[in-house]
Amino acid sequence: MSLLVVGTVAFDAIETPFGKTDKIVGGAASYISLAASYFYKNIQLVSVVGDDFPDTFLNTLKSQGVKLDGLQIKKGEKSFFWSGKYHNDLNSRDTLDTQLNVLETFDPVVPETSKNCEFLMLGNLVPAVQQKVIKQLTSRPKLIVLDTMNFWMDIALDDLKETIKMIDVLTINDSEARQLSGEYSLVKAAQKILAMGPTTLVIKKGEHGALLFNKDEVFFAPALPLEEVFDPTGAGDSFAGGFIGYLAKTQDISFENMKRAIIFGSAMASFTVQKFGTERLIGLSDADVEARVQEFVNLVQFDIALVNN
Ligand code: AMP
Repeated sequence: MSLLVVGTVAFDAIETPFGKTDKIVGGAASYISLAASYFYKNIQLVSVVGDDFPDTFLNTLKSQGVKLDGLQIKKGEKSFFWSGKYHNDLNSRDTLDTQLNVLETFDPVVPETSKNCEFLMLGNLVPAVQQKVIKQLTSRPKLIVLDTMNFWMDIALDDLKETIKMIDVLTINDSEARQLSGEYSLVKAAQKILAMGPTTLVIKKGEHGALLFNKDEVFFAPALPLEEVFDPTGAGDSFAGGFIGYLAKTQDISFENMKRAIIFGSAMASFTVQKFGTERLIGLSDADVEARVQEFVNLVQFDIALVNN
């Protein structure tokens, strides 16, 4: 039984209305693995960095129980670098720079022990590389979740569509759902995207929560209204990590359980945005996570006595 996480491990430089960072550790797979590690312990990471990447962060991942046998460290090469600037509402951002560096030639190698993983989380990455990972597996995982972004829709749409055919759950944000489907209504967008292959779709709407769709049902999870949001980077990845980590822990991939999983995902995202980078996701206790999930329950629980019932 294992959870295989694939995606970028990277350097980011972030600008928000509250401050600016130099290069700090980020990357989709970093956030996913950290968030998932609070629910599930047998996590294997497949990714690539250059030899400019700090050991301290890799040791943090190891101390959270994340196995790094599938992480390639390329001598003399630079790690993936992304830089973004958030608008005042913190819900939208512009990418200022994307330097693929080690990603340009990345050939993922799934460790032998993870080729029969039960859960596969394909974090944001080159779609063709995501596909290569699926093809190395010796048995079909119980669940494949894929996250992606507009960048890949712009430059690798055909590969992305091929990859989407092979998965179970797609997680994207509202503007990406509109871009991928060509529909403004998210309900119509969801039906078009579900027709492309996945059985389930999660549409993330930043501070406005997340929608979970299958062919027949819809569910909504709010985002926690926080007094301070410092840096939204990695919120989507932390969401995905909490989502799949909870599903792996409970071994239940029903729509009912996915409703719970998007609450756990939203809780992990709410931690991430409270500090720059991955900082807030390190060293949480089980009690911290439980208390945060309880805040979600309190936020949406209400009793209504309907007059005609
Ligand atoms: P999120 O805020 O959840 O969308 O994820 C932000 C993370 O995604 C950052 O830490 C970046 O390093 C990483 N990232 C940004 N652009 C890309 C890309 N084109 N491919 C893969 N990862 C990316």
